[in-house]
Amino acid sequence: MTFEEIKNDEQNYLMHTYGRFNAALVSGKGATAKDVDGKEYIDFTSGIGVNSLGYCDEGWVKAVTAQAGTLQHISNLYFSPMQVEVAKKLCTLTGMDKVFLCNSGAEANECAIKIARKYSYDKYGEGRQKIITLVNSFHGRTVTTLAATGQDVFHNFFFPFTEGFEYVKANDIDDLHAHLNDEVCAIFVELIQGEGGVMPLSEEFLMEISHICAKNDILFMIDEVQTGISRTGEVFSYQHYGLKPDVITSAKGLGGGVPIGACLCEKNLSEVMTAGTHGTTFGGNPIACAAANEVLARVTTDEFLEEVRKKGEYIREKLVTFGNVKEVRGMGLMIGIVTEKDNAKEIAAKCVENGLLILTAKNLLRLLPPLNITYDEIDKGLSILKNVMEA
Ligand SMILES: *Cc1c(COP(=O)(O)O)cnc(C)c1O
Repeated sequence: MTFEEIKNDEQNYLMHTYGRFNAALVSGKGATAKDVDGKEYIDFTSGIGVNSLGYCDEGWVKAVTAQAGTLQHISNLYFSPMQVEVAKKLCTLTGMDKVFLCNSGAEANECAIKIARKYSYDKYGEGRQKIITLVNSFHGRTVTTLAATGQDVFHNFFFPFTEGFEYVKANDIDDLHAHLNDEVCAIFVELIQGEGGVMPLSEEFLMEISHICAKNDILFMIDEVQTGISRTGEVFSYQHYGLKPDVITSAKGLGGGVPIGACLCEKNLSEVMTAGTHGTTFGGNPIACAAANEVLARVTTDEFLEEVRKKGEYIREKLVTFGNVKEVRGMGLMIGIVTEKDNAKEIAAKCVENGLLILTAKNLLRLLPPLNITYDEIDKGLSILKNVMEA
């Protein structure tokens, strides 16, 4: 098929839910993708923070294909050694007590929301079901996670939305207090708002949330779907601050390119979800778990995390010298670039034309390169970006 044929059939057969760049990608290796015409692209996107080890990493391919050739699916009616291994790794890496495995970020967040409401219902009865999230947050596309998402543009068409979410301005402690009452059962936040424009929460605001939650038996829940799996230079971003959340959610980078999500909870919550209260057909699928086991074994060592931090620093130091750069923010290999000319979308499209895949978030450019990207690939990508930025 030619690019034009693919584009045509996409128009004819797929729902038009995505704005797409003009590239049909068919293969890749490391941080380099190839399109249907054989043109190469440096990849600063990892999907959207998914391909933690880049395209077709040798160890990852081996783990996935070995599992596909052994046992691809068994349902959750039987015990699975692959699931146990992922859950044990996640608990060891975080100090959390229990894991629920699912297939996406939205599903991991649905689980978190259900845990919060059931924990509160079991202990305090009805009337304590409100969950505070943040203005400008993003938590997913299901009806409930859209309701949790604190952006008005997402609260259209699909009425009625799930009730019981209130939105507090990020880093505004007064606004946080103004929304607190005895109906609140959880506070649920991203530590760096990803889709919202790579916006980090302040340490002061996080400490206040932590304090409020501990004092009032309110659950502190962190959406690590984008920030987790070593993206920011710690396995999970909350580990930069020594926080003790009650629930964290993960997905995106966890499977390195196959769908898997996870919701992790603390010991006092480990009996909240009981048989019959939650489940999913594909959750903890053996192939997805084999992928996650490989990713977790590879990206969580001290040396690997140090490399992520160093590469992030290296990229940031270069970026601030480019023309049209107003501000660079983010942590590790989650990087946002505010442009002087406010032309991120235009730059992203031009980068693709010039052989660089790059993301936007709101009016920012956003980089989420594979965690094991080489310096050579970084330099190639940055040189394309510099030329486009300064053109
Ligand atoms: C991407 C994302 C989600 C949604 O994940 P899906 O796998 O698309 O359902 C939720 N929260 C955050 C912070 C995300 O970045």
